[in-house]
Amino acid sequence: DEQMILQFQITLYGDDERLVMARDITRLHRLEQMRRDFVANVSHELRTPLTVLSGYLETYSGMADQLPGRMSRGIEQMRGQTTRMQNLVNDLLLLSRLEIDQGGQDDAPLELASMMDNIRRDAEALSSGSQHFEVIIDEARRLVGSEKEIHSALSNLVFNAVRYAGEDRHIRLRWASHADGACLEVADDGEGIDPHHIPRLTERFYRVDKGRSTATGGTGLGLAIVKHVLLRHQAWLEIDSHPGAGATFRCVFPRERLASAESEAPAALT
Ligand code: ADP
Repeated sequence: DEQMILQFQITLYGDDERLVMARDITRLHRLEQMRRDFVANVSHELRTPLTVLSGYLETYSGMADQLPGRMSRGIEQMRGQTTRMQNLVNDLLLLSRLEIDQGGQDDAPLELASMMDNIRRDAEALSSGSQHFEVIIDEARRLVGSEKEIHSALSNLVFNAVRYAGEDRHIRLRWASHADGACLEVADDGEGIDPHHIPRLTERFYRVDKGRSTATGGTGLGLAIVKHVLLRHQAWLEIDSHPGAGATFRCVFPRERLASAESEAPAALT
């Protein structure tokens, strides 16, 4: 009943010689599976106690005027940290769910224009008011994917732009065509990222500036989530950035992920 998992590596020499190597990765695979299940279970189990904690803290915070100053400041601190822990646990749970199953169950043609508009509205609420947002639709075909997952990937990218680009910047969301299909792009004209960090940005908990990211409220899992969502859509992430020249995060979807344009052509094309 035990399944064995083998990894093959085939090397070609000249026209007709091949070297085939097989490696037994059964144990490795099982360990990896245990790690995922463990993270998923722990995150799940932590949710209830955190909900109880934040419920009480919410109540006490509403009674601030009846409490000594030091105590109510402490309660505010606890509330902030509890929210941070809840965000972290939710992101961990989301990430391990993305890793555990293959996805594709709720794929459908998406209304990207309204999704992008909603995310822009949420981002405006989060931003200090000095940032300018723009939503552009340059591609008539619809993306076929999971609404929940694409929404969470796109909002991670947009909220990162809000957090890291800085004051008085422009943030642009765009659905456009691309040589390989189409792309969903989030660009800002903020501080940018040093190129040597770029290959590691999608690793769990990798941050360019650890102190700063913790203060901005990120969990360190945002881009890892984006990467896994894209993997499930046969898509990939391209990151273009230079210090002082802003950052562009481009989710590239292959042609197979595009539904044909709707029968009624958009006004701009008629
Ligand atoms: P975090 O929770 O730290 O935001 P992410 O995985 O979402 O975690 O992002 C990883 C790191 O990438 C961030 O800590 C930040 O240093 C960098 N980063 C992400 N988006 C941008 C951006 N638009 N501009 C500059 N740096 C960014």
